[in-house]
Amino acid sequence: MRLADLLERTEMIEDDLRHPLDADWSEQAVDLADDEALEGVDEVLRAEIQHIRLTLLRIEKGTYGTDAKCGKEIRRERLEARPIAARCIECA
Ligand SMILES: [Zn+2]
Repeated sequence: MRLADLLERTEMIEDDLRHPLDADWSEQAVDLADDEALEGVDEVLRAEIQHIRLTLLRIEKGTYGTDAKCGKEIRRERLEARPIAARCIECA
């Protein structure tokens, strides 16, 4: 996934989380309140947004692509496979 796609995806996910606060969604929420699987998905989404935000923050600070733990450069292949990777393969 390229970074531009990530950004687009973040916006879509955040839209999804922000907007559906209408009547339809409330009904759905009640219907699905007991659905633990859905709660799990929501958590995964939120975690993903958090990761993407941290990634954007690292880009802003110019530390993107560097392992914050060991200071080594994260390999390009790894970043291409997983753009939100914050650790090199050895530290992951
Ligand atoms: Zn490392």
